[in-house]
Amino acid sequence: MMKIEKCLTDLQLEVIYNDKCIKCGTCGAFCPNIYFDEGEVKYKEQCSETVGICYNSCPRTILSIPDLDLEIFGQKRENQALGVFKKAVKAELKDGSLKDVTSALLITALEKQMIDCAVLGDANVEKRVEPVICKNKDEILSNAGERKGLGPLVWKAGEAIKQGMEKIALVGRPCHGQGVAKVLKNEDFLVQQEKIALVISHFCLAQGKGCNVCLDYTGEFSDISLNPKTGEMLIRSELGEQLVNIAVASGKITTKDIDTSSIEEMATKKKVKNFLKVVAKNNGKIEVDYAKIDINLLKDMVQ
Ligand code: SF4
Ligand code: SF4
Repeated sequence: MMKIEKCLTDLQLEVIYNDKCIKCGTCGAFCPNIYFDEGEVKYKEQCSETVGICYNSCPRTILSIPDLDLEIFGQKRENQALGVFKKAVKAELKDGSLKDVTSALLITALEKQMIDCAVLGDANVEKRVEPVICKNKDEILSNAGERKGLGPLVWKAGEAIKQGMEKIALVGRPCHGQGVAKVLKNEDFLVQQEKIALVISHFCLAQGKGCNVCLDYTGEFSDISLNPKTGEMLIRSELGEQLVNIAVASGKITTKDIDTSSIEEMATKKKVKNFLKVVAKNNGKIEVDYAKIDINLLKDMVQ
């Protein structure tokens, strides 16, 4: 993906002061000038760089879905509602001491040294999602479960890199996965982003500020997408597949294959509803705000 010659001022105008920011934290993950305080984006100074990693990594600037499909998964998507995935299963927790399927996967990854820490929402903070870096099984278990709302989890993954962590897992919403995908595939910025090694996204129908233009229900750019309530899971990457197989073989979870039609229905409903908010006619030409989508492929869904 090529860098775009825009910077913090453009990010502020197009996203932050334009009600599109979802406070995912990606803009500050690799920038020494941007940080988050109680979930809010802050700047040390009004930066004068002309090309910013902040602008280039934000999932609400340009999100080219067909390009990311190719760059992340090496293929075009066949399923417009769900994106690229290898397998759809329903997972159940077998080892009850691990609290839930997400924790079981993270603990498996930790045991097998596929990760050395996980960024989760802090269970001790109630009013917002405050990210926390969990470096062992106990810390993962004490922060197990769903947090309501969004938080700057990707920014915290950047903090974990600064602390010397080498293989970081991030459990977030689809938009966090979009931010990580953009930064992973932007070779113009070499900032050790590859240390974000594993992304698990939870299915999302959040309604916060900025969510009204979201086109992703499942987390199309993660290794594993999971509905934490039902255990429905889309395994997307080789790493995701390997991890689920080990979690099953070690008796932590069970899985069975499922039909994806009900997930597709939910995803399509969200995409169509929000897609209609991001398309506009400009002098007779159809333009889509921030997301670059193959409109021909989406046509069938928006009927
Ligand atoms: S990267 Fe995330 S937090 Fe930063 S401006 Fe974009 S949406 Fe907001
Ligand atoms: S709906 Fe969910 S995935 Fe989409 S922007 Fe909101 S929190 Fe992120």
